Amino acid sequence: MSTTAPRWALIGASTIAREWVMPAIRATGGSVEVVMSADRDRAVAYAREHAVPRATTSMDEALADVDAVYVSTTNELHHPQALAAIAAGRHLLCEKPLALTLADAREMVAAAQRAGVVMATNHHLRNAGTHRALRDAIAQGRIGRPLFARVFHAVYLPPHLQGWRIRDPKTGAGVVMDITVHDADTLRFVLDDEPEAVTAMVQHAGMGAPGIEDGVMGVARFRSGLLAQFHDAFTTRYPRTGFEVHGTEGSLIGLDCMTQRPVGTVTLRNDSGEHDLHVDHVNLYERALSNFHAALRGEGAPSATGEDGVRSMALALAALESARTGREAAVNTGA
Ligand code: NDP
Repeated sequence: MSTTAPRWALIGASTIAREWVMPAIRATGGSVEVVMSADRDRAVAYAREHAVPRATTSMDEALADVDAVYVSTTNELHHPQALAAIAAGRHLLCEKPLALTLADAREMVAAAQRAGVVMATNHHLRNAGTHRALRDAIAQGRIGRPLFARVFHAVYLPPHLQGWRIRDPKTGAGVVMDITVHDADTLRFVLDDEPEAVTAMVQHAGMGAPGIEDGVMGVARFRSGLLAQFHDAFTTRYPRTGFEVHGTEGSLIGLDCMTQRPVGTVTLRNDSGEHDLHVDHVNLYERALSNFHAALRGEGAPSATGEDGVRSMALALAALESARTGREAAVNTGA
């Protein structure tokens, strides 16, 4: 295995690999050796377009002669494909949600532990300078005891992504498994706290096929007693995104920070007025890949581990349960 120049397989000829992760692998010292698609022509075209040496439809071929695997297929495929990669002894970066059920996600994490491979979840937002500034300010006690958080993550799903996410129930479609999982991870990261229960309502505004939610609002209660509100949607073109935390001694306002791009601001408001905090803007995916590559060398852990992926799913699944039953749902991490 090469730990200085890790060789990667892409499982899934996906948009996210093309737009962000493949460039980040290459920018941080890795190489992309092979792409696997269910469709041979797509694999070949994707490989040609992105200068990937090999194209295949075979998992065995994809896993040969690589060090690490990036799984970014539709959600229902993550579990079997991740288990195959782990069984072959490959390190794993898996897209969120890790799986469709908590039991499957737990099985993936346990298998990676047994095999001694590095496993990460691609929760990009915790790599953002904005969210790191929020976390640091809270850890330094700058807002006293955090009491409330609010996450605004309502967006418009771009036309080129209006496919399985809003149409195909077998993929775990819907805004909760797509976006709320990211809120869950970011809340856990920024607050250094764990959600215990959630109440949520979902909306069907017509973008999602019948039965597939395209909007959600909810409130989660954390171990410390903090309440966190989240609002996620595929259907709104004009809102700003944001992440606020309000404490006994101050408030933190992150704006334009629930995004893939390294942008946004963080403002601290307290009894001495309003101060813009320094934000170290770096490419979120490059930071994730840089930390992943370091973990392969035995230097630290990935930005978001497999366990983090299980825990973000646990909150999302509880939100769906609450929306279904009309009651508060406990966040069961299966730990
Ligand atoms: P895509 O729809 O682009 O790709 C998913 C799969 O759909 C691909 O693996 C591919 O299958 C198939 N596919 C893609 N384009 C076409 C096409 N033109 N015709 C036919 N089939 C196609 O999904 P995303 O890249 O948006 O998402 C993939 C995964 O990544 C999901 O799990 C999602 O939740 C996650 N994601 C994570 C993000 C993050 O920032 N962490 C951001 C966006 C997505 P095949 O490989 O078999 O050809």
